[in-house]
Amino acid sequence: MATAERRIPAPHPNPETRAFWDGAAQGRLLLKKCLACSQVHYYPRAICPFCGSDRTEWQQASGRGTIYSWSVMRRAEVPYAIAYVTLEEGVTMMTNIVDCDLDGIHIGQRVRVVFKPTEGGPPVPTFTPA
Ligand SMILES: [Zn+2]
Repeated sequence: MATAERRIPAPHPNPETRAFWDGAAQGRLLLKKCLACSQVHYYPRAICPFCGSDRTEWQQASGRGTIYSWSVMRRAEVPYAIAYVTLEEGVTMMTNIVDCDLDGIHIGQRVRVVFKPTEGGPPVPTFTPA
């Protein structure tokens, strides 16, 4: 088990991502869904990347997904895992896998979101084995 906590730099919300980070502060993982083409996208944008519509709305994700790929950074002060996690909603996000044995991480592993504090900013969504 990892014992030391890694320090995470604060994210910098902008007008397009402000609601995402406000949601994170409440422990909610938010995604953008397009009302024109019904596709969910990540990262959050004002304009749908699939059809160009500006008719998008926020929806709360289940917070569950599976690991698509991962890598462990061992040359850090506190080793950590970076990964792509595909959410149940179909989008894939770059994130960290936390609170687990880094040697036990594997492709297809079921994970769930857990928010980790940052240095002076909103918490960030990371994932841990479900
Ligand atoms: Zn669209």
